Amino acid sequence: MSKQIMFSLSCTTCDWQGADADLNACPRCGATIDLHYATTAIVPDDRQPGIWRYADHLPLADLQYAVSLGEGNTPLLRAARIGDGIALPELYFKIEGANPTGSYKDRIAAVGIARLQALGKRAWAATSSGNAGAAIAAYAARAGVPGYLFTVEKYAKAKVAQILAYGPQAWAVERLGYDPAVEEATWANIRHLCAANQWLMLVTARAFSPHAMEGAKTIAYEVCQQMGAPDVVYVPVGGGGLLSASWKGFVEAKAAGWIERLPRMVAIQAQGCDAITQAWQAGRPLQPIPGCSSAISGIQLTAPPDGDLVLRALRESAGWALSVPDEATYQAQAALASQEGLFVEPAAAITLAAVRADRASGRLQGHERVACWLTGSGFKDATAVQRMSEGRTIAPMRAADILSLLGGQSS
Ligand SMILES: [Zn+2]
Repeated sequence: MSKQIMFSLSCTTCDWQGADADLNACPRCGATIDLHYATTAIVPDDRQPGIWRYADHLPLADLQYAVSLGEGNTPLLRAARIGDGIALPELYFKIEGANPTGSYKDRIAAVGIARLQALGKRAWAATSSGNAGAAIAAYAARAGVPGYLFTVEKYAKAKVAQILAYGPQAWAVERLGYDPAVEEATWANIRHLCAANQWLMLVTARAFSPHAMEGAKTIAYEVCQQMGAPDVVYVPVGGGGLLSASWKGFVEAKAAGWIERLPRMVAIQAQGCDAITQAWQAGRPLQPIPGCSSAISGIQLTAPPDGDLVLRALRESAGWALSVPDEATYQAQAALASQEGLFVEPAAAITLAAVRADRASGRLQGHERVACWLTGSGFKDATAVQRMSEGRTIAPMRAADILSLLGGQSS
């Protein structure tokens, strides 16, 4: 394939513009880089695998470097019971757990590893110990590219196990995860290592990997094709890259003529770890919070790298930010499984918890078409799986006793 995609860079903050280059921040002011494409028309090419059907709006000049495991094109399901139960009949779920490694991060990894190959880099390095690490490691394995993972000292074995299966070398960095000085040194040293060795540092935030993050906006493209524009979109927010990228996707879809109106974006955070909600509600710029008391894994960030872009998207879309207690998230997770057949991780279920809260408070009136990004599969969080079935027992029985249920008895 020799199709050439034209795109260029600009700064999200100052007026710097430039041709594509091996940059991950604005060379003038250090702010986040934005990407622009030569045409506003988006023409899906169904001959391309995965998200590469939207290649004319992804930052890869030459499609020969594209890598895919069949990511994207995930189901959009209308709620079977939960929507009617809260008098919100037009409630939809985007099932991102259906991606190859079980989360939306595959969309980002596909672009990131393609970019790595296009730049002629020899390996990847990352610090994730969760969904992003699994996605990056999987797509790198597919491309035959080695990788180096630096995880936190107290890593969750089950989460890291999936990453290790894809083969990267991994280390647990002493005191990483609870010492800001170690965090800073880790970032700085990995950046140095990558520059010296021709490796690509991959972080799923627009502030660090603006090219790779373009992959995430394809969720919005797909939803526009599946249901048109929703009225309101609920997105889990940790670092904020997903919400910011989704908003970019809707804006591009409108420019392409796919939708006539833009949705309102809603940023959902966990109470006890909600720097963005606090900034939004106080009407002030983002400030890091001193610690995180929420247990919802995947969205525990005290200094969201894309927080400013989230606040901007909320303003531009007339959206809002909301935080919900962990307990409401666990209840939403159980309801999604038992009432909808959807087995998702808590960081995904938090969107339904927020919809319920907004419906109860009247902020959602009931007539809106609402879409929730269910970002990852339930298999991702073993602890949460245990919690969902806590208190349930499985009684032993003999085969002959099966017929004792004939009377319709169920115990
Ligand atoms: Zn700038």
